[in-house]
Amino acid sequence: MKLREIGEFGFIDRIAPLGSIRTEGVVKGIGDDCAVISVGGPNYLLVTTDLLMERIHFLKKWASSELIGARALAANLSDIAACGGTPLDAFISIAIPDEVEVEWLDGLYRGMAEMARAYSVNLLGGDTTGSKSDLVINIALTGTVAPDEVLFRHTANPGDVVVLTGPTGQSAAGCDILVHSPELPEQTSRALIRAHLEPTPHILQGRVLATSGACTAAIDVSDGISSDLGHICRDSGLAAVVYEDRLSVSQELISAAAAMGKDPLEWVLHGGEDFVLIAAVKSDKLADLEKGFKANGLGLFPIGEFVQGDKMILQRSGGQREELAWGGWDHFR
Ligand code: ADP
Ligand code: MG
Repeated sequence: MKLREIGEFGFIDRIAPLGSIRTEGVVKGIGDDCAVISVGGPNYLLVTTDLLMERIHFLKKWASSELIGARALAANLSDIAACGGTPLDAFISIAIPDEVEVEWLDGLYRGMAEMARAYSVNLLGGDTTGSKSDLVINIALTGTVAPDEVLFRHTANPGDVVVLTGPTGQSAAGCDILVHSPELPEQTSRALIRAHLEPTPHILQGRVLATSGACTAAIDVSDGISSDLGHICRDSGLAAVVYEDRLSVSQELISAAAAMGKDPLEWVLHGGEDFVLIAAVKSDKLADLEKGFKANGLGLFPIGEFVQGDKMILQRSGGQREELAWGGWDHFR
C-alpha cells in the first residue's frame, strides 16, 4: 500500500495507538498540536516538533536564511499557541548538504535566535549531521500551560462559534506567486509573499483565548481552514457551518486571484501556513472575548458555528449550502 492511499492523516491514525506504552502523565499524546504531559508540577509541559525539508517546504532561492530560520521556529511557536501555551525551549536539528555555506547557516541561526528572543525562547540543543541531497531542519519546542487553560482539538461543543484570529489564504497566495511569478502590482505580491515568508505566531491570541474561559477548543491553521477546522470537527464528533460572507478576502487576494485565473476563496478555505488560530468559543461569551481581543489590539473573526453532524457546510453568500470538503494540504495526496 502506498502512503497516498491513506494520506498523511490516515498514516498518523495508523501509528497513534502504538504510542501509548506508559499512560501515566500523558494528558494528550499523538493527535493534537502539542503533546500535553503532566510532569508533577502545577503546569503541564507542552511538546511539539516540526520538520522542514528543502524543496518540500521551502526553496533556498526564495528567501534569506534569516527568514527561513525565523519561519521554522514560527511554525513551532504556532503549535504552542494552538494549545494556549507559553513557549519555553527549542532544540534544533539540521542535516546539511555539502554545498551550503557556513555564512548561510549563520543567517539561519540569526533568524531563529531573533524569533526566539521575541518570544523569550531559549535554544538549548539539537543535532547536526550531513545530508546527501536536501537541507532538513527539525525543531522541537517545549511550552507550558496551566491545566485549566490548555486548549485541545477534541473539546468543541455544538452551538460554539467558529472564530479565526486572523485572515487566511494570504500565505498560500504568496506561495503560488513565488512558484508562478504572475504579473502583479509590486505592492500586492510583496504583501502576499511576506505573509508566506514572515508569518507571526499567534501566541498572545492563544493566551487570550486560553485565559478567557470562553474558548472550548483550538488549532492553528497550518494546512488550511477546511483541513484544520476539519480536525476540530472530527475530534469533537461535530460538524460546522462556515458562512462565505463572513470570510475575510483581502483586496490583494482578489487581484492576485484575478491575475492568476483563480478563485480567491480556494486560498481562503484550503490554503495553509497562515498560522492564525481557529477556535471554538461559547456563544454567550463571544462578545466579552471580542472586547478582550480588542483591548489587546487583536482581531477576532467569527466565521461560523459548530453543529451536530459529520459534514462541514459552506453557506454561500446567496444562502445556498454545499459541503465544505476537506481540501487542505496533505503531504501524500
Ligand atoms: P501540526 O500540523 O499541528 O504540526 P500534525 O498534523 O503534523 O500537527 O500532527 C498531528 C499529530 O500527529 C501530532 O500529535 C503529531 O505529534 C503526530 N505525528 C505526526 N507525525 C508523526 C510521526 N511520524 N510519528 C508520531 N507522531 C506523529
Ligand atoms: Mg498545528
